[in-house]
Amino acid sequence: MLVGSSSTHSIREIFGKNLIDNDDAIRKVSISGIAEHSRLIKGIIYPESIESLRKCISDAYKNNIPVYPVSCGNNWGYGRSCPPVNDCIIINLKKLNKISNFDAELGSVEVEPGVTQGQLAKFLENTNWMMDCTGAGPDTSIIGNILERGFGHSPLGYRTRHFAVTKVVMANGDVCDLTTPGRFIGRVGFSAGLHELFTQNNIGVVVGIRLELVARQEESLRCIIKLNHKSSISKYIDAMRLLKAEQTITALPHIGNHYRMLGIFHQFDFDRKSSNLTFTEEELAELLKKYKLSPWMSSFAVLGSSSVAKAKAKRIKRQLKGIAKVYIISYSTLNRINKITNWLAKHVKWLPKINTINSNVEDIYHAMGIFEGIPNNVALKGCYWRNKQSTPRTDIDPIENGCGFMWVAPSLPMLGADVEKFMDLTEQEFNKYNFELAVTLTAVTSMLCQAIISVYYDASSVEETQKAKKLVESLRELYSKNKWIPYRRAVDEMPLDQYHYETGAVWLRKIIKKSVDKNNIISPGRYEFKE
Ligand SMILES: Cc1cc2nc3c(=O)[nH]c(=O)nc-3n(C[C@H](O)[C@H](O)[C@H](O)COP(=O)(O)OP(=O)(O)OC[C@H]3O[C@@H](n4cnc5c(N)ncnc54)[C@H](O)[C@@H]3O)c2cc1C
Repeated sequence: MLVGSSSTHSIREIFGKNLIDNDDAIRKVSISGIAEHSRLIKGIIYPESIESLRKCISDAYKNNIPVYPVSCGNNWGYGRSCPPVNDCIIINLKKLNKISNFDAELGSVEVEPGVTQGQLAKFLENTNWMMDCTGAGPDTSIIGNILERGFGHSPLGYRTRHFAVTKVVMANGDVCDLTTPGRFIGRVGFSAGLHELFTQNNIGVVVGIRLELVARQEESLRCIIKLNHKSSISKYIDAMRLLKAEQTITALPHIGNHYRMLGIFHQFDFDRKSSNLTFTEEELAELLKKYKLSPWMSSFAVLGSSSVAKAKAKRIKRQLKGIAKVYIISYSTLNRINKITNWLAKHVKWLPKINTINSNVEDIYHAMGIFEGIPNNVALKGCYWRNKQSTPRTDIDPIENGCGFMWVAPSLPMLGADVEKFMDLTEQEFNKYNFELAVTLTAVTSMLCQAIISVYYDASSVEETQKAKKLVESLRELYSKNKWIPYRRAVDEMPLDQYHYETGAVWLRKIIKKSVDKNNIISPGRYEFKE
C-alpha cells in the first residue's frame, strides 16, 4: 500500500510558496526522538484555512504525493511529528485553531486541530465547564491526542468515548461534514457509529471535532494515595476495580512508581561514587526519604456536591485501609497553601529552605491543577531523568533539548494478579539492560488498566541509546507474547511487522482505507502492516 511520488511536476511547483523546505525546519521534523529513528521529509506546509488545506490535499492526491497530517506535532515519546515512511510532506495544522459553538448549557465545544489544551483551558476559564486534561501540557493539541486515542485524568478522560468528528478533509480533497442536526446530545444519527473510525486509521484529515466538557462542581477534593509497600500494587488494583465499578471513582486515577515520581524532583546522578549503573537499593531508599515518596503514589480528583464528594472520599479510605495511606485535601485549600508559601518566599526570605518548599508546593499545586482542567508542563521535568546536558526545563520541547525517552503502552486487565505478573516481568527486562523502571498504571475503566512504561536514556551516548532501543524491543516482544496489546504505538514500529491477533480487524481496516484513499496518500504506514 505504500506509495512513492509518480508526479512529473516538482514538489515546489505543486505546492508553491506554501512549502517550507529549509534545512533547519526539515531537520526538526525528521527526528522522531525515538532512539536514532528519523525519516526523510520533503517539506512542511502550515495551512491557514480549511480551503487551503483542501487544495493542498487535493494537489497531493492528483500527484500521488504522501502527506502526514499532524495537529500540533507534539506526540512526544511516540515520535513527535515524524512519519513512519520517507518522503512525506508534513501538514502541520497548528494555524487552524478556532474554538466555536460553545454550548454553555449542555457542556460541549467545537475545536479545530491547532487548538491546544492551554488555549481551550483559557477559553473555559470563567465558565461552569472545564476540559479533560492530559499530562502532556498546554502546547499539545486536543484533536491529535484524541486521534491517537490518548487519555486524560477527569471523568471524561477516556476521551475516545466523548467526542464526535464534525469535519474531515478526505484524501481527494472533498470535505465531509459529519455534524448531526440540532444541538449536540452525544453520538446519534447516521454518523453515530463513524467517529472512532477516524482514530488511528488515517481515513482523512480531521479538521473539526465536538468535545464533551466536565462540569465544575461544588467540591473538588484531591485524593493522594501512598502505597505502604511495593508489593501492595496487586491489592490496590483490585480495590480500584471495585471503586471504579461502583462509580465511587469516576476519574481516571494514575498511579506512578517510585522512579516515575522521582523524575519530577531529581535527575539521575551519573557522577556519584557507586559503580552501579543504576541506583542501588540504599541510594534509592535515601532519595525516596528525601522527597517523601513511597514505592507507588497516586492522585486524582473526587468531584461532587460537598456531601457526596466527602462520602466518596470516606469510602475510598475504607477500601484502601491496610494497603495505602490516603490523604484528602480540597483544591481550594491547596490554592491557599500555595499563596502562603509564595508570599513567604517573597517577603520572609530568611526562612530556612523557603525557596525549595515554595517551589515544591508550586509544582504540587500545578500538578493538581490538571484535575481542574488546567494543563501544565510539570510532567516534562521527568523527561530529563538521564539528560546529561540540561537540568529540567518546562519551557522547551524536551527532544530539542536533548532528552532521551520512549514510551511503551501495553493494556492490561484490571486484575491485581495480572498487573503483578506484568510488573515482575517488566522489571526483569529493565534489570537486564540496567535502566530504571518508571511506570504509570491508569484505571481507565473497571476492566482496563493502561500501563505507560517510560524508558529514559542518555541521548548523547550512542551506546546507551542503542541499549535503550533494545530494551524497548524486548518489552514489545514480551507484551505481545502475553497479549498485553498496546493501545498506541511509536513511529519506529511502523509500518508494523506481521501481527497474529485481530486478523479480522486488520483485514477490514485495509479495505476501508483503500476505499477512501486508493493510493494511500494520507499517513502511509501509520498503523499499517508491512506488505
Ligand atoms: C511528559 C509527558 C506527558 C504526557 N502525558 C500524556 C497523557 O497524559 N495522555 C496522553 O494521551 N499522552 C500523553 N503524552 C504523549 C503526547 O505528548 C500527547 O499525547 C500529545 O497530546 C500528542 O501530541 P499532539 O497533541 O500535538 O498530537 P499530534 O502530534 O499533532 O498528533 C498525533 C498523531 O495523530 C495523527 N493526527 C494528528 N492530527 C491529525 C489530524 N487532524 N488528522 C489526521 N491525523 C492526525 C498524526 O498521525 C499524528 O502523528 C505525554 C507526553 C509527555 C512528554
